[in-house]
Amino acid sequence: MNAAVAVFDVNRIRKDFPILHQTVHGKPLVYLDNAATSQKPQAVIDAISHFYATDCSNIHRGVHQLSERSTRNYEEARIKIQQFIHAADPREIIFVRGTTEGINLVAQTYGRANVGPGDEIVISALEHHSNIVPWQILSEEKGAALRVAPINDRGEILLDEYESLLSQRTRLVSIAHISNALGTINPVRRMVELAHRRGIPVLLDGAQAAPHMKVDVQEIGCDFYVFSGHKLYGPTGIGVLYGKASLLDEMPPFQGGGDMISSVTFEKTTYNTLPYKFEAGTPNIEGTIGLAAAIDYVNRLGLDSIAAYEAELLEYGTEKLSRVPQLRLVGTAREKAAVLSFVIDGVHPHDVGTILDHQGIAVRTGHHCAQPVMDRFGVPATTRASLAFYNTREEIDALVAGIGKVKEIFG
Ligand code: PMP
Repeated sequence: MNAAVAVFDVNRIRKDFPILHQTVHGKPLVYLDNAATSQKPQAVIDAISHFYATDCSNIHRGVHQLSERSTRNYEEARIKIQQFIHAADPREIIFVRGTTEGINLVAQTYGRANVGPGDEIVISALEHHSNIVPWQILSEEKGAALRVAPINDRGEILLDEYESLLSQRTRLVSIAHISNALGTINPVRRMVELAHRRGIPVLLDGAQAAPHMKVDVQEIGCDFYVFSGHKLYGPTGIGVLYGKASLLDEMPPFQGGGDMISSVTFEKTTYNTLPYKFEAGTPNIEGTIGLAAAIDYVNRLGLDSIAAYEAELLEYGTEKLSRVPQLRLVGTAREKAAVLSFVIDGVHPHDVGTILDHQGIAVRTGHHCAQPVMDRFGVPATTRASLAFYNTREEIDALVAGIGKVKEIFG
């Protein structure tokens, strides 16, 4: 066990998450659905509640005390996020509803302005629907085409094939940092480098990466990076789009309305500067405050310690599940994080999920919004246990025991 894992006191950490301490169907809750959404520490719940109890006001428009406080909190959250992903400037942090909205924003602004007939957008075979459909909508509108980098049987992107898809027609690469269905950590630095060599910008879908590893957008070199607050122990309805200022400056606005304007007449509207040009309407103020509290919490634990602890837990789970007869892990990349997707011969994943639920174990079953991944592995669905730093070896043992019950029932 390495030093980072040794200092990680999971029992103390679990006390910070009130929701974990309940029974489901009379059994202690074992929450293994963290890739869908993670649970919130008391500090996040308190920060949101404090906002409504003491500071609630709209931002940027009021001169009164409450509005000033709300505005300060909102802008401090932006700076916290800038530091969290090591962006060069807070103007490069745009608040959105989540990963999905962030990708749609880029597709509808950068994409519409830069993609034309015959152009191509490169994605990969392990993308979430949120990183497929916005590009299909854009491609249909513009007469462009999607090109898909294939994956091998472990669920790793074939880099040579990826590279061969990059051409003079490629307008953008959009790739997951970590796959939600398989857990694969993609070699994003290398992938960005290969695209940049040809002058192609890269968007990274960081929905599954931001909660599990240190992200440094300048070190990776990507042009856009998106993630959701609710997977990072923060509230739902808030997410982040990072974009290089030089690109964001050139992009047309996404939505029109309050705060994104500099001046409006019936003849012409001029747009606000970054980041406000992309933040039309009253934003999710409480969301930014909750997300900032989540980032404080995660920073206190340290992302390196979190990653080391989770890697250890993943190894433990992989080893235990590999020993279960008739169980096949789907997604066995050498670089992998926090996801155990599997199928059991002769049992539909929905039945697995239901029987586990009766034992208090929350997992997700289905296609995980990644139908092409299921097609690639020739399965209609999988059962997915996804980990967070508050999970324990005992919970993995409970999962394995639960699977034993499934097999008993389906004999
Ligand atoms: N991309 C990936 C890799 C995801 O895991 C998810 C959430 N499952 C999304 C995009 C979409 O995130 P959201 O629903 O928060 O917009």
